[in-house]
Amino acid sequence: MMVADILVELKTKKMDQTFTYLIPDELKELIKVGIRVLVPFGHQQLEGFVLKIYPKEAVDYPLKPITSLVDQEPILNEELWAYIAKKTLSNLISCYQAMLPSALKAKQGFLVNKKYEIYLELNKDTDYQPTSDKQKAVVAFLKAGRQLKKSVDLISPSAINTLIKKGVIFEVKEEVYRLNDEDVKELSSLVLNEEQNSVIDKVLINLNTFSPYLLYGVTGSGKTEVYMQVITRVLSMGKEVIVLVPEISLTPQLVENFKKRFGHAIAIIHSRLSEGEKYDEWRKIERKEVAIVIGARSAIFAPFTNLGLIIIDEEHSQTYKQENNPRYNTIDLALWRAKRHQIPLILGSATPSIESYTRAKTGAYQLLVMENRVNRQFPQVFLIDMKEEIRHNHKILSRLLVDKINDRLLKKEQIILLLNRRGYSTVITCHNCGYTDKCPNCDIPLTYHKTSSMMRCHYCGYGSQRLEICPSCKSVDINEFGMGTQRLEEFMHQTFPSSRLVRMDIDTTSKKGGHEQIITAFRRHEFDILIGTQMISKGLDFPNVTLVGVLNGDATLNIPDFRSAERTFQLLNQVAGRAGRGDLTGEVIIQSYNIDHYSILKASTHDYVGFYQEELKIRQMLKYPPYYNLCLIKMLGKDYDEVVSEAKKIATYLKEELSSDNIILGPSSANMPRINNVFFLQIIIKFKKTDSIVKALTFINDRYRTNNKVSIEIDLNPVRI
Ligand code: ADP
Ligand code: ZN
Ligand code: ZN
Repeated sequence: MMVADILVELKTKKMDQTFTYLIPDELKELIKVGIRVLVPFGHQQLEGFVLKIYPKEAVDYPLKPITSLVDQEPILNEELWAYIAKKTLSNLISCYQAMLPSALKAKQGFLVNKKYEIYLELNKDTDYQPTSDKQKAVVAFLKAGRQLKKSVDLISPSAINTLIKKGVIFEVKEEVYRLNDEDVKELSSLVLNEEQNSVIDKVLINLNTFSPYLLYGVTGSGKTEVYMQVITRVLSMGKEVIVLVPEISLTPQLVENFKKRFGHAIAIIHSRLSEGEKYDEWRKIERKEVAIVIGARSAIFAPFTNLGLIIIDEEHSQTYKQENNPRYNTIDLALWRAKRHQIPLILGSATPSIESYTRAKTGAYQLLVMENRVNRQFPQVFLIDMKEEIRHNHKILSRLLVDKINDRLLKKEQIILLLNRRGYSTVITCHNCGYTDKCPNCDIPLTYHKTSSMMRCHYCGYGSQRLEICPSCKSVDINEFGMGTQRLEEFMHQTFPSSRLVRMDIDTTSKKGGHEQIITAFRRHEFDILIGTQMISKGLDFPNVTLVGVLNGDATLNIPDFRSAERTFQLLNQVAGRAGRGDLTGEVIIQSYNIDHYSILKASTHDYVGFYQEELKIRQMLKYPPYYNLCLIKMLGKDYDEVVSEAKKIATYLKEELSSDNIILGPSSANMPRINNVFFLQIIIKFKKTDSIVKALTFINDRYRTNNKVSIEIDLNPVRI
């Protein structure tokens, strides 16, 4: 008899276990390793995953048969899920589930229906003569060839029915895809400049070996063209390509350019698609109807079998880390697949993450550099000290920014104003000079805890009294500060009443296609000024924008996370890259209370390497990545005392178990200490070698599986703490 080892998830224990089941005759031909099945387990039916199929002579106990199959084909013919499980300390099934497009995640079979169109076609072998004029019209219409039923219905549905009954015409049902762009335009390749050529040459010599590259190319250096030309080469070899972008809706231009260059060879996967649309895009890949996938994080799972290239654009983006279980980093998975297929992986960015640039420096990646903009000019950046402006009663817009806005409005050129999302209301900042209270050990802003009326570091637990007077300027005007984009829009209306304003933030873009509409309208110059949050900083290319103003350049510095300087540099650098993309030169004005901070200074001179060196010193001093790796353990539960007591136990255990070259911080309150009456505490481990802590982590993980008062979440190498 044939049996199968089936991995099932025991939900109560939050773990996987393997059991052997009998394969009933009717499933013998259909079952495959890697698909999901339903199996009886106790009184219920559980979803399981086929690990192994093999013949077995006899067993000493009766085996239960598999009930039915959930999938027809394995989702991905690679054991990527096992790698994810190992890398994230998660159970196998949850990793497998993470790889499924959500449309296929239905418990049994497919949730999403295929979409069909009905066509009408003429039956050539029939003698029936149409009797009415309407019937004649229908037959005449179909003589030219088959037609969509919808359009024939306009003539007469009853005539159609009669003709079908008489066998004169018949219906044909065909699956159609929900997303099908009809007007694909041609976009021919550009003549490459010297830097682009040299980069492409280096990649093309290694198309058949595992070769990870970091492409550090300043904003406007022409990375997209490099991607497209390498892709063309890979496609001509008959191979397939995955292109990852942080978020599709924020990069409409890249997608548009790809569509124009590659036509229908592309599937596009992103979160704003409906379930049906996602399902269709996935099927295009499975059926080999496309050779390129563009998508956010989850597109790394595209079930291509003849992969030739993976590209991760804006590789520094936090969106590549999955923040729920399994907490994988897409770059790790891309490296794994690239290695397995022996192909190149290109990580592109104008502001590589500190970790990636370090890997390139140490030879783990090959570094490719494009230092010049295609148009050869960087915008000029002005730093404005808002401490000074406040004295002149300019709290929102500096004097220079007001002048320049007026100047651009006169010249009919466009302006982008960036207002950072207000950030963390729990971080307390001096309204007058921008001073922020930081932890002396961890160099991150302290957060204010209402309940205890204390300022606390959520890394190490350090505490101090709430600030009442600014230690730097003695002002008592200490508070969270800042305003929303809506308030700014009102202010701008009052200050520049004749200008045409458009706002882009969560509110104005929440409906589908919202981004695209605003972007298109702004490009058509239906507006003079675009006001927005971080979301306007990425990937936009407007030739007529010659002025970019950043109203609160240091807002991101106040995020209580050790990467806040890196985030600030990335953001300002991206924004600065938005001005002067066309033939007109651009100017950028950055307003800030901290114009001396290296992240702001280096962004103003477009000096990534300079920033990297400064940041590295601090990372070394404070033992952050890339010198140490981090592990974040969160403990959560409804009973605060219980969470505290378990957290203390875990910390004690780790201190005893781990060798002394690992550093254990906490337990301390998490950044968000309480959500929906669930309390969060956290412990941070700074460690050198993953192997040295995995055993202890696995032990804790297993131990809390069955604790129903306190749960734990482990995040190895978190991007946000
Ligand atoms: P990046 O992604 O590096 O910021 P882009 O790929 O958006 O830069 O390129 C910036 C602009 O330069 C785009 O408008 C692009 O069409 C143009 N461009 C790129 N390469 C060339 C080239 N070789 N010749 C002329 N224009 C180019
Ligand atoms: Zn102050
Ligand atoms: Zn601290």
